[in-house]
Amino acid sequence: MEPSMAERTTLGFGGRALAEAVIRDEAGLDALPAALSRLGGEPMALGRGSNLLARDGLLNLVLVRAAKAGEPEIVAESGESARVRASAALGLPRLLSWLAAQGLSGLEGLSGIPGGVGGAVAMNAGSYGREICDKLASVRIFSLDRGMVELEREKISAGYRRFDPGISGFWLVWEAVLLLDKDEPARIKARMREVHDKKKATQPVGSRSAGCVFKNPPGESAGRLLDQAGMRGARLGGVGFSDLHANFLVNHGGGTSAQALEIMERARLAVKEMFNIQLDREVVVI
Ligand SMILES: Cc1cc2nc3c(=O)[nH]c(=O)nc-3n(C[C@H](O)[C@H](O)[C@H](O)COP(=O)(O)OP(=O)(O)OC[C@H]3O[C@@H](n4cnc5c(N)ncnc54)[C@H](O)[C@@H]3O)c2cc1C
Repeated sequence: MEPSMAERTTLGFGGRALAEAVIRDEAGLDALPAALSRLGGEPMALGRGSNLLARDGLLNLVLVRAAKAGEPEIVAESGESARVRASAALGLPRLLSWLAAQGLSGLEGLSGIPGGVGGAVAMNAGSYGREICDKLASVRIFSLDRGMVELEREKISAGYRRFDPGISGFWLVWEAVLLLDKDEPARIKARMREVHDKKKATQPVGSRSAGCVFKNPPGESAGRLLDQAGMRGARLGGVGFSDLHANFLVNHGGGTSAQALEIMERARLAVKEMFNIQLDREVVVI
């Protein structure tokens, strides 16, 4: 049976991909090019599916999932800081609690983001002014073009929800090395709790969503614009913008990705009409 996108995404929408390649070690990466040419379709890296809106029907995609197990490890250390290597497959929440226990600070602002390390790097995930690439030292990326390469942060162009390693064709984040500052575990945990509590009060964290669906325009909040354009709580079938945060699209059950795309288009037009501001998608539509 082809892999279900509804089962692989937090929004829970979408049809099926052609196939899925789960890569557990580097030998699996060596075998990937031949497997992809055998399977056909377009390869697509899949993390935890927490920023994806999959269309209905059969998608011409082969999902490629980095699945190397294992804990993060400290690979270098000085008096004030440490470098930590984390596999792309590791969940960001797991990484953050491990860092807190080790007394390593810098990513607390990313608390509550449910993606994997690979997806967080590929999206340059962030919140409250902190982004994962602020703390990235280097990344190992596998691509069909160049095989495995290690890129230092300076070689990568990254910005607000943008990460461009300058590699053409399909590529997969395999591991990241992060540079963190030493601090007291209790202080780090307190900062994480603060971020978490703030998100719980202002975002529908328990609902099926993909986080914010539109990017914030420069100097503006997409949530505020959507709210003022009347989209807070607006629904179409089983899909709707959250009552708690107007930039979170929620699957209330029984919704389809066609409904999700339609209500997003209505929201985009409403904001364009009211403010003459163009909203761009943050959620990746596949
Ligand atoms: C409740 C909730 C809250 C959220 N809050 C935030 C937030 O505060 N800030 C924020 O930035 N995001 C937020 N998100 C969105 C999402 O969690 C992040 O974008 C996350 O980093 C995506 O990681 P993922 O592993 O789920 O990636 P996926 O959704 O699986 O993929 C997202 C994109 O990354 C690519 N990708 C995934 N893994 C890899 C890899 N190993 N190599 C190369 N490319 C890859 C995919 O091809 C796709 O283009 C939220 C989502 C939810 C559901």
